[in-house]
Amino acid sequence: MPAPFAIGLDIGGTSVVGAVVAADGRIVSRRSIPSRSQQGIADGLRRLEALARTLLDQAQVSVNDIAGVGIGSSGPIDAETGRIHNPFTLPGWDGIPVVDHFRETLGVPSCLIGDCQIGALGEHWNGAGRGARTMVYVTVGTGIGGGVIANGRLYRGLGDSNEVGHHVIDLDGPECYCGARGCWEMLAAGPAIAKMAASEAPHNSLLLTLADGQREQISARLLTEAAALGDPFSLRLVDRVGTYLGVGVANLINIFGPDAVILGGGVMLGWDSFAPSLLRTVNSRGKMVRLDQVRIAPSELGLNAGVTGAARAIWLHNAGEL
Ligand SMILES: [Zn+2]
Repeated sequence: MPAPFAIGLDIGGTSVVGAVVAADGRIVSRRSIPSRSQQGIADGLRRLEALARTLLDQAQVSVNDIAGVGIGSSGPIDAETGRIHNPFTLPGWDGIPVVDHFRETLGVPSCLIGDCQIGALGEHWNGAGRGARTMVYVTVGTGIGGGVIANGRLYRGLGDSNEVGHHVIDLDGPECYCGARGCWEMLAAGPAIAKMAASEAPHNSLLLTLADGQREQISARLLTEAAALGDPFSLRLVDRVGTYLGVGVANLINIFGPDAVILGGGVMLGWDSFAPSLLRTVNSRGKMVRLDQVRIAPSELGLNAGVTGAARAIWLHNAGEL
């Protein structure tokens, strides 16, 4: 019988979130620590192990009752060797052997996949994507990432990454660090939204007033707040960003033919602001698929999608279904 609990870890550039998750998807204990990867591998392994042990203590769950430790990390990662190789947002942890470390110190199975893939597994298992046969999960935050469930199973490409944020929306758009121009995340991720808002906000706009007149204080979150209060500039920009989001979602629908597209990440906490123009754009481009059969919805698990899916990953791994 599968173990009744699992540990899920969601490793990002700023923090590591961990949880003990029950077999029904319930989060029993949850805690986050700063990543501080620049302190090096030995320090990182020690703190990750301490996090796992603290989570078990808080949940009053014995290590004998867990299926193992499922880990999702900001990539690049190497799922085969269970090591993270991400000099971009996790400098100092290049080659950190997270999977081997948990196998050796806790004596339980462990596996490593991409951070957007755990989000996809979480939403598909116990969130807005429940029951979908094929589902595309998109997370919109500092960047835009994705994970795909194809015919009920996690789709795993080279390097375990679905870089949906780097599919091109505008050939003449802003230059991207990946080498292309006009990538989706250069037009619709949090920093891109903040940059457009800061450079274009009229001096008499409510948005600028909410930012105390300081353009560098403007964020995607503040933009949706100003739009919700009826600020004309913010409403126009939110409409434009929703259009960019909708173009990308329409492309993914045409490519994958999913029955669900679930959008998560910090920017999508402003779903109500972006949804009208996003859905309008998708509907105007959806002649090739049965759009009435595609559920487009915000994440239900929110910031817990990652840890939930990371825990799910270890159960699937142990069953040979990952
Ligand atoms: Zn790019």
